[in-house]
Order: sequence, then structure tokens, then C-alpha cells
Amino acid sequence: MFIADTHSDTLYALGVHRTLESDLMITPDKLRKGGISLQTFALWTGVDGNRGDVSGIVHKELEARSIFEDKGIPQVQDPRDADENGNAFMLSVEGGEVFEKGLDTVDEFRALGVRMVALTWNHANAIGFPAKSGDKRGLTEYGLKVVRKMQDNGMAADVSHLNEAGFWDLINKTNQPPMASHSCCMSLCRHFRNLTDEQIRALVSGGGYIGINFYPSFLSESGKCDVRRVAEHIDHVCQLGGEHIVGFGSDFDGIETTPEGLEGADTVPALLECLKEFGMSDDIIAGIAGKNLLAYYDRIDPR
Ligand SMILES: [Zn+2]
Repeated sequence: MFIADTHSDTLYALGVHRTLESDLMITPDKLRKGGISLQTFALWTGVDGNRGDVSGIVHKELEARSIFEDKGIPQVQDPRDADENGNAFMLSVEGGEVFEKGLDTVDEFRALGVRMVALTWNHANAIGFPAKSGDKRGLTEYGLKVVRKMQDNGMAADVSHLNEAGFWDLINKTNQPPMASHSCCMSLCRHFRNLTDEQIRALVSGGGYIGINFYPSFLSESGKCDVRRVAEHIDHVCQLGGEHIVGFGSDFDGIETTPEGLEGADTVPALLECLKEFGMSDDIIAGIAGKNLLAYYDRIDPR
């Protein structure tokens, strides 16, 4: 089965935070054990907006890729290049600060193999405003230019962390449907990081994508849950008509707690088992596991 995960902070944990490999939720061994065909590694750049050392952090994160490459897990430049029977990773960016110095920077990150970009992390930047701020402004004029250039280059605009006004600007003013790489359902857990049913319906009708986050605080208002709760959020997206646009966005190595039974990449098969218990067909589960993500890239970047 082709299994994909659209968000993790493993490269930040390794390269910047210097987390020991034995303490990671995603390691080469865990990717193999979990049968993860395509793991997305974020280049996290959200630190303190453009006042932070963005390029220094990105450099350290890029260097940290070697832990996977040295163990035979290669980077792919396109999600559709990942092999169902192998393990590979793809790069994303979390925090549009990397694009603040001009539109040419979009080309630079595309050349590195970046295929999705969360336009903001939790700080406002030259592109837009985060959900965390409560700001009601949409994307900036410059932000719209950046997104259009990204979309012309097969890069997905990722709304996780972005505010709602920015989300609707992506829906209404740009050429390709956006994705949420690591978000959950607001109607099951009231948290500013989650998407409303109205937003999820817009992703369904527009052909977007949502990877359900595994962070207990986004899954359950008690901040505690087990693997079944992740399946409930996936099922909720299905109830809204989204069985072909939903998948996994673990946020592994960026979260301090996990659902019981879903502690790392090696445990993802337990989530697939849970989906079966929800009565989903093998075809629907294969879509949720990863094929839905490949279909999303076929929509935004036909080849
Ligand atoms: Zn995040």
C-alpha cells in the first residue's frame, strides 16, 4: 500500500534541536517498519519572522537529511516518484519567511525539491497572517504573487497555521486548490489551528487536500486521546464528502505528545486497522493512506 504523511518536523528536531535519533518519532527504521512510502520533511522557518536566522536554520535542516539518505531513504523531487514498496521523503517549507527577499527565492526552494509551503507558521510575515494572531486580514499583494509563482511551479499552497481570511483568498483569488498539510476538524475540537466544516467543504468542492494532524490537543479538547480519535477526524472529513481528499499529516517530531497507539511512524498500520473498524472499504482506505495525495498533485501539477 502507498502510505504518505504530509508533515513532520524531524529535520528541525535533528538539525537544530539536536534531538538524538533514538528519541525521534520518525527514523529510517520506523519508516521501514511502518511501510511509509512518502514522508514529508518540513524545513521549519517560522522562528521570529524575518528577524530570525532563517537561512542558517534551513542549512542545518538540509544537512540533517543525510541521516535518512545514508540509510538508503532518498529524497524525491515529486511525490509521484515515490515507490509504493520503498521509503522516500519529500521536502516542504513551514513558514513563508523564506520568500520574503523576492520572487526568485521561490525558484531556489523549488530547485531544492520543495513541493509544499505553509505560507505562515505562527508569526505574521510578508505573505499573510497566522490563525494564532486572530488577524482578519487576508494575503498581502506580495503573498498572492508568491502563491501564483509557487502554483506555476507545482508547489502546493499549505493553509495549516494560516488564518481564515488567507484561506479564502487562496480559494477565491488563486489558480489551484490549497491543501492543509497538518490540521484537524474544528467541529470535533475547537482550536484555532483546525478547519471549520465550511473550509473543509471548500477543499472538497475545489479539489484540495487535508492531512489530519496526530497532535492530541488538536484532536480532542481534553488534550488526550488514542489512535481511534484520529480515525474519527478522518471519518468526519469523509462525512463532509471528503473521502478522496483526506490523509495523514502526523506532525511527528513537532509534537510533544501523541495519541495512545500512534507513537511514531512505525505505528501507522494501527491507524489503518482503525479505519477498517469504521467500515471503510479497501479502496477508500488506500486513498486515505496515500493515493489521495498523489491525485491532489495530479490536479495541481498535471504531468
Ligand atoms: Zn506546524
